[in-house]
Amino acid sequence: MALEAEKAIQGSMQRHDLLIRDILLFAEREHGEREIVTLTHEGEMRSTYSDVARRARLMSSAFERLGIRQGERIGTLMTNSQWHFELYYGVACMGGVCHTINPRLFVEQLAYIINHAGDRILCVDAAYLELIEPISAEIAHHVTTIVIIGQPSDDGIATRLGARFAVIDYEDLLATGSVDYSWPALDEDMPSSLCYTSGTTGNPKGVLYSHRSTVIHAYGANLKDAFGLGSRDVVLPLVPMFHANCWAFPYLAPMVGAKLILSQKSLMDGETITRLINREKVTFSVAVPTIWAALLRYLRASGETIASVQRLQVGGAACPFPIVQAFDKDYGIAVTHGWGMTELSPIGVINQPKPAMYDWPADERLAHQRKQGRGICGIDMKIVDAAGKDIPRDGKTSGRLMTRGHWVVDTYFGHDRSSLEDGWFDTGDISTIDSDGYMQIIDRAKDVVKSGGEWISSVELEQIAMSIPGIDEAAVIPARHPKWDERPLLIAVRSAGSSIACEDVLAGFDGKIAKWWTPDDVIFVEELPHTATGKVLKTALREIYQDHFTNNVMQSSN
Ligand code: AMP
Repeated sequence: MALEAEKAIQGSMQRHDLLIRDILLFAEREHGEREIVTLTHEGEMRSTYSDVARRARLMSSAFERLGIRQGERIGTLMTNSQWHFELYYGVACMGGVCHTINPRLFVEQLAYIINHAGDRILCVDAAYLELIEPISAEIAHHVTTIVIIGQPSDDGIATRLGARFAVIDYEDLLATGSVDYSWPALDEDMPSSLCYTSGTTGNPKGVLYSHRSTVIHAYGANLKDAFGLGSRDVVLPLVPMFHANCWAFPYLAPMVGAKLILSQKSLMDGETITRLINREKVTFSVAVPTIWAALLRYLRASGETIASVQRLQVGGAACPFPIVQAFDKDYGIAVTHGWGMTELSPIGVINQPKPAMYDWPADERLAHQRKQGRGICGIDMKIVDAAGKDIPRDGKTSGRLMTRGHWVVDTYFGHDRSSLEDGWFDTGDISTIDSDGYMQIIDRAKDVVKSGGEWISSVELEQIAMSIPGIDEAAVIPARHPKWDERPLLIAVRSAGSSIACEDVLAGFDGKIAKWWTPDDVIFVEELPHTATGKVLKTALREIYQDHFTNNVMQSSN
């Protein structure tokens, strides 16, 4: 009898669904006065967690009055702003799904994504209304209403869109909400937001996050050995809110009461970033490597500093080592590497040193920063060979990187089959994991150069190329080769004023890699194409240059 009772015993603690509304309600209650600052196209807008929580509730109520039901999708075509932050919560907390759309996609992809998601309402920064006009007929069977944020420069566009949709200004819609509204208690497994992957091959795929996955991810990403934010932090995410939940910063900052700085303008130039950092006393910022490279160039040229910054987080692509080195040595700022993907909400690993590493010689510790990082409690990873067999964590042998955990995708939105292999998600990345658990990306499986049946890491070649004086940015693609199937081709942007020649660049690889890894040729370009999130668009480079060697062979044999 006693055994029976023990078998049935359960924990006797309270059970609450994990809901993202509780993140903002916490910020409103405990850090209501903490600021959210938006650098707008026109100037600047300052608000507080208390004010945005009130406005997000009004927005939820307004959406309910428009007839939005739980589970329905509301799309956003917006950059970073207080308004976008309000929609993250205003949509999800009433039970809707906030579908953030990348405005820099081709119009065909925009139409595809909006239709695939079945968006009912689109909230659009005024500057992006022109993207909607050419696809309005295609999307009109789902979308009923366009909500405009800001003032369109084209006076007639709202009227023209009004022929197909109900068109309403954001603040006018907000004014229809009730101040007595409060967010419902939802089931934690209900969806909260939807992001489509970059879709460099085939159609983009949607990842539908739940309240539960989002909240657990936020706790994980806020751990001290992950982003480790606190209420004294002033956080400037320079990653867009339309990509991978803005790396969760709209959840992480209110969860600890950190001040949040958002910029509606895409900040790519070092001078504006420096001014913003110094004015708002930013302590933590996050961006892709190209942005930190631009900031470094500006700081060096101007002699200015960014003394308030304690940490710069980098991810999205491998960070060139000279950037990590220069910030550390010249400015005393740690550039912390991290890796993630849309399918992981997006944080996978962060490179925080383990205690023993603090005793390592400085250069060795710095060199270790090249690795993408180690796991966070809540996510598990392993590498496997082509047959799916586990590969040892020896830091040398590479294989397919597989993940599983609370915030990893199971099934893409609208797909009827799980994407998992025996419970693990294949990231599409090739990596190593060392005995300390640090993962290092070797390449995207589709970007690796397969030369005579052996693999060459394009990431490693790019890292070396970008450490050669005179080279600002570099990308390596596999170009078809008549003898070796593929050979590495380096496409590089020279630094301002540099006239470095092909031979000098190739000499820069000597002694750093096996001779046969050296790229067969270098093509200099004025600039590299980038995705909206600042990554080099290798598909575009492959389209132009993939026959570089075969064309040359044909030319020389003619
Ligand atoms: P996305 O889903 O668009 O965020 O792209 C995710 C992909 O970006 C990953 O699968 C990696 O291939 C790449 N990526 C992200 N972070 C890093 C990093 N720190 N180093 C190298 N590649 C990265």
